[in-house]
Amino acid sequence: MTMNDLPIAVIGAGPVGLAAAAHLFERNLVPVVFEAGRQAGSAISQWSHVHLFSPWKFNIDAASRALLEAEHWQHPDPEVQPTGGQLVEDYIAPLAAHPKLAPHIRYETTVVAISRLNRSRLDNADREKSPFVVIWNDRDGNRHRTLARAVIDASGTWHRPNPMGRDGLAVEGEHEYKDPIAYGIPDVLGKDRDVYAGKHTLVVGAGHSAINAVLDLLDLKIENPQTRISWATRSGGTDRLIGGGLNDALPGRGLLGHRAANAVRDGGVSLLSPFTINKVERTPHAFNVAGELGADAVNLAVDRLIVATGFRPDFSFLSELRLTLDPVVEATPALAPLIDPNFHSCGTVRPHGAVELAHPEPGFYIVGMKSYGRAPTFLLATGYEQVRSVVAMLAGDEEAALRVELELPETGICRTATAATISLNAKKEMTMNAPVKDEPQAAGCCGGPAPAGVEACCVKDADAKAAGESGCGCGSKPSAQVEPKAKPVACCD
Ligand SMILES: Cc1cc2nc3c(=O)[nH]c(=O)nc-3n(C[C@H](O)[C@H](O)[C@H](O)COP(=O)(O)OP(=O)(O)OC[C@H]3O[C@@H](n4cnc5c(N)ncnc54)[C@H](O)[C@@H]3O)c2cc1C
Repeated sequence: MTMNDLPIAVIGAGPVGLAAAAHLFERNLVPVVFEAGRQAGSAISQWSHVHLFSPWKFNIDAASRALLEAEHWQHPDPEVQPTGGQLVEDYIAPLAAHPKLAPHIRYETTVVAISRLNRSRLDNADREKSPFVVIWNDRDGNRHRTLARAVIDASGTWHRPNPMGRDGLAVEGEHEYKDPIAYGIPDVLGKDRDVYAGKHTLVVGAGHSAINAVLDLLDLKIENPQTRISWATRSGGTDRLIGGGLNDALPGRGLLGHRAANAVRDGGVSLLSPFTINKVERTPHAFNVAGELGADAVNLAVDRLIVATGFRPDFSFLSELRLTLDPVVEATPALAPLIDPNFHSCGTVRPHGAVELAHPEPGFYIVGMKSYGRAPTFLLATGYEQVRSVVAMLAGDEEAALRVELELPETGICRTATAATISLNAKKEMTMNAPVKDEPQAAGCCGGPAPAGVEACCVKDADAKAAGESGCGCGSKPSAQVEPKAKPVACCD
């Protein structure tokens, strides 16, 4: 059997793993998809109650759509933002059930190790000619191996939420007192309602997951006024929550931050920022969260905690492969400067593919949410472009692999790049949980300079303030470090 007779292993039947499989079929390559869950989209099913902020038109991969339409599938309304549940039901499940894909997906199979046949990480000789060995456990824990000519790891990060410590570690008591702590976005208005109604909950985090959790708790509070909400963020106060705000080309995303910031101003939510948690301990009636609010020691009695501080990738099953990872974000070095929240400018990340995602291990790629490492900015449309390019490269179509086929809306978030010069000579990209400004300092943008005498950075900022909003999320000065030829980092043209 030659390498070319072997399938291409795809790890994960999430939207990006399935898209990879669809692109492989388009190029007459055979996938074998390993999915740890019982169904496709099993990670998304765990946040099925959450509305995506991107509408359908950005959530569907082109090759997958072509497969589905051949089976008379109806494209959902492109302008509607589905919930995670609808994404699974109306797109991911039909795709996974497609007669071409279905026989190639193995459910309840967890990939636990990958290497190259008879070659450890140390062996150079003919490495690229040696097939991959994918070791996986079935639902009963039995171990199996499958040979593959290439591996596309689309296993996401959902199963590895960040702990609540400011240092990236669990705080004292976090592992011991698991009971009151939920990670991600619990279903506060649905199945978890009784857990939170009438209780005091501390939400930790400043991204969209945290904002979603706070907004759900606010809705619960309307029904049950005893419900109390505290919200701890590491920095930035309400400015950080607003982000791209009204400039966000995805209005659903922009509005989330505004609603949250307004709730803080109205007193419905008590914001603790900058807050560092040191310890969680049980008290006779509740839990005490010990931390520092700025320089002051604070003890907060709460019933529940929702930790929404992002996710991190699991590289444990890749330890026999030759990877190269940026030490900060844990993405490939070519991708990392584009998504590192320390430098990320304007939420603008150029579309990228096989070249940026390559590792020293030939034939191995990490795509999808996991490809962004710890950066919180991944979006489906980006992942679909990644797999289009990676599969083209695996098929030997380098020209297609290098081509950019993605147009994305902008975030509306501008921020000065403080170290890396970010090349923006490619097309635009949108981001999720886009890193937002700690201090406004971004491009003069949004319809030109503000009218004389108005305390605003631009026309749109002035309009927003006149309408009672806090502003449009723009800063005041152009970023000095962004290449001048580039598409403006400004939020609005
Ligand atoms: C709450 C939330 C809201 C989001 N909203 C948006 C949005 O509005 N728009 C947008 O574009 N993006 C959004 N995202 C980001 C991103 O698009 C999603 O996280 C998306 O699910 C990523 O797809 P994926 O295929 O890369 O990973 P996942 O959907 O996480 O799929 C990975 C799959 O791999 C499986 N798996 C994991 N480990 C293994 C293993 N070892 N072996 C076998 N299988 C394994 C998992 O069970 C899972 O099914 C959101 C993310 C979250 C968390």
